[in-house]
Amino acid sequence: MVGGGSAGCVLAARLSDDPARHVLLVEAGEDPATPAPIGRLPLGPTSTVATSYEVELTEGRSAFVPRGSAVGGSGAVNGAYFVRATDADFARWPAAWSADAVLPYFRRVERDLDFTGPRHGADGPVTVRRVAGDAAGAVTRSFADAARAAGWPAEPDKNAGGAGGVGPVPLNVDGDRRASTAHAYLDPARGRANLEIRTHTRVDRVVFRGDTVVGVDVVDGTEAGHGARQTVRASTVVLCAGAFETPCVLLRSGLGPADELTALSIPVTNDLPGVGRGFTDHPELLVPYAFDTGAHAESFSPARALLEACANTPEFELRPYTAPFARSIEGLESIGGGVAAGLGLGVALMRTDSTGTLALDSADPTVPPRVRYGYLRTAHDRACAAAALDAAHDVLAAWRGVRFDPIRAGGAAPLPLELLGTSQHMCGSARMGGVGDPGAVVDERCAVRGVRGLFVADASAIPVAPSRGPHATVVMLAERAAEFVSSLSA
Ligand SMILES: Cc1cc2nc3c(=O)[nH]c(=O)nc-3n(C[C@H](O)[C@H](O)[C@H](O)COP(=O)(O)OP(=O)(O)OC[C@H]3O[C@@H](n4cnc5c(N)ncnc54)[C@H](O)[C@@H]3O)c2cc1C
Repeated sequence: MVGGGSAGCVLAARLSDDPARHVLLVEAGEDPATPAPIGRLPLGPTSTVATSYEVELTEGRSAFVPRGSAVGGSGAVNGAYFVRATDADFARWPAAWSADAVLPYFRRVERDLDFTGPRHGADGPVTVRRVAGDAAGAVTRSFADAARAAGWPAEPDKNAGGAGGVGPVPLNVDGDRRASTAHAYLDPARGRANLEIRTHTRVDRVVFRGDTVVGVDVVDGTEAGHGARQTVRASTVVLCAGAFETPCVLLRSGLGPADELTALSIPVTNDLPGVGRGFTDHPELLVPYAFDTGAHAESFSPARALLEACANTPEFELRPYTAPFARSIEGLESIGGGVAAGLGLGVALMRTDSTGTLALDSADPTVPPRVRYGYLRTAHDRACAAAALDAAHDVLAAWRGVRFDPIRAGGAAPLPLELLGTSQHMCGSARMGGVGDPGAVVDERCAVRGVRGLFVADASAIPVAPSRGPHATVVMLAERAAEFVSSLSA
């Protein structure tokens, strides 16, 4: 296993269920002793569990995008909003991943404390709960009132397969802890004799004999290791290094667009034009607002999730963050145009046409990739952004005690690009696709095309970012991929 993040922890646990199989989990970062409180995102400049990439969001607008870089991965540092992709989202996946086909895996993942029935799981590793009614903070409660006053229907269960509305978000929270997959899947498996976890070790590339995987080249990142390189032998390799790093490992292994590889003097193992190309994410405009009084301040608590409710349509999502980002992220000075110090309503586009590209500038694994999101490039996406901002305006106008600068973007008004950020939901940088799809990097069983013994089973493989946050879908994909890897490598 390459990468011990959201997906990697699931695969490591599921594959080591079989005592006859030796599983080595190689993680570039550390193994944190204690998880961060739910309301704190340990992403600031001094974080030892996250790293950040400089990216271009759209022409003329750059940003630093964080990713988890320790055991637990991005799922150990994220907002803990754990909602599934909608049934309609799976119409954009290969047929083997229909909404009916994936439902048992979504159920297998979760222990839903609020809802039962055929769409919900009762005894999975990840505890899922919602904060509703009086238990929610003042920001959440008053936002929900405003949304209903602005005409939004109530949606008490966002995993029920409905069309959207305003309601509590499912959270992967167990007691007062974030139920990351490190906690929910890996911790119970840690004592196994057949599971080895090697931290502070970065995989540079996959090693092949002909078209068959024989291992990985790793770089020892410990102080004692002095960056020593070593080849670790393995007959099966599963890439779970996340949507930024999995395509980098593929490219350094000679799997990617042949012209790009040749330009970097990387020998071509297989020409896969889709590696790093056509990824998707959710642009987010963070609209600043303020309350007239301090009555909402009780919402700011490290024990409270940063997002307790949201309002969805199939196209966009309104996110009433419970605290200013500067309070949740230590050392953060600015995000989305410098509004980190105050409250912001996130206005995220959940179904975009624009896609991005990720490419290497060097075969050196310490050089970060060049990432261009290409946000808001199409007329469809700009129209969606204008409609979403209009809807946000209506909710803000109905929100009692709230002040904000008018943000209507309809008509000829330019979009307020100074508010543009990203939801950090990158998917599809090494995407899954059916036979005949030239951009497909992996097949319907997550196996990399044209080689033997190599799989991609993380957010990179998701064909297109779902119209909800991706975390629950990444974990579902990892659950199912473990079955494929198990049967294909038996
Ligand atoms: C700040 C933030 C907030 C988010 N909030 C939410 C949210 O509230 N809800 C939601 O649905 N989604 C959210 N997301 C997205 C979600 O967390 C991710 O989609 C998901 O965690 C991705 O899982 P993954 O397994 O693909 O990658 P990751 O969890 O990122 O794991 C990748 C792992 O691989 C390791 N690695 C990388 N390269 C190498 C290498 N070469 N060798 C060895 N190891 C390597 C990394 O250190 C990391 O541990 C958020 C993401 C971020 C960054």
